[in-house]
Amino acid sequence: MESLLNSSSAQPAVSYTQFFEVAKQHNLSTMESLWQAHYSYWNNDTLATGIMAFVAHELIYFGRCIPWVIADALPIFFHRYKIQDKRPPPSVMDQWTCVKYILAIHFIIELPLIILFHPMMKLCGLKYDLPFPTLSAIAAQIITFFIVEDTYHYWLHRAMHWGPLYRSIHRIHHQYAAPFGLTAEYASPWETLLLGLGTIGPPLLMGYITGEVHLMTVLVWMTLRQIQAIDAHSGYDFPWSLRRIVPFWGGADWHDDHHRYFVGNYSSSFRYWDVLMGTVAGPRGKQKK
Ligand SMILES: [Zn+2]
Ligand SMILES: [Zn+2]
Repeated sequence: MESLLNSSSAQPAVSYTQFFEVAKQHNLSTMESLWQAHYSYWNNDTLATGIMAFVAHELIYFGRCIPWVIADALPIFFHRYKIQDKRPPPSVMDQWTCVKYILAIHFIIELPLIILFHPMMKLCGLKYDLPFPTLSAIAAQIITFFIVEDTYHYWLHRAMHWGPLYRSIHRIHHQYAAPFGLTAEYASPWETLLLGLGTIGPPLLMGYITGEVHLMTVLVWMTLRQIQAIDAHSGYDFPWSLRRIVPFWGGADWHDDHHRYFVGNYSSSFRYWDVLMGTVAGPRGKQKK
């Protein structure tokens, strides 16, 4: 990204704070100034995008899991909202095993891909300069990504329940019949790659076709998609859960049944593919037939 920094400073900027102060002189919003300061500080766009995306990924993944770890540690307050309330909550050992496995997946599989993202997005014509796109443009693209990812996820996930694919790839994700937040990305490296394509593919494709996708939109999309996946594995359903406001939203209420019954509820975010294709899991599915 073109550096507009240092142009008006007597002393060259060297720290994040100094780069931020210089960026603010260029009529940018706080977020845009931080963005500009970040790219100027690293002075290597591939590295700057990679570090930003990876740090955000770690903070959001483990940060979003913390409330669910707390909920499992305080059954006196939260047990009444637990979906599979007859099973014991995950042990500290279960959670620790999950954390170690996920860190290995993040560093060995996802980190190299995240570093490769910058050249890939440039090849596909994604933008990362300033200003940021408008909120309405970000929202419209993200809704499209949710719909496309959900469709891709439904069919690929359904295929992964076919015997040979299940045994060789998907079985790891089903190790926990009563999922908890940290299990969202507890999966084989192949599953991480194949299902991850549903998250990363739509923005690259849309960027290639329209030339109007910004990296900021991709980061917001990845954040929401991660939160969706973690919440769907939380094992808790609240009176204020999103699925009660948006009736076709899946959430934990939907995905928990996939882990409990092993068959049905294959989609990630929404319910309509399973309803349309007659693959609703458990007693709810039988009622529908
Ligand atoms: Zn499955
Ligand atoms: Zn799952």
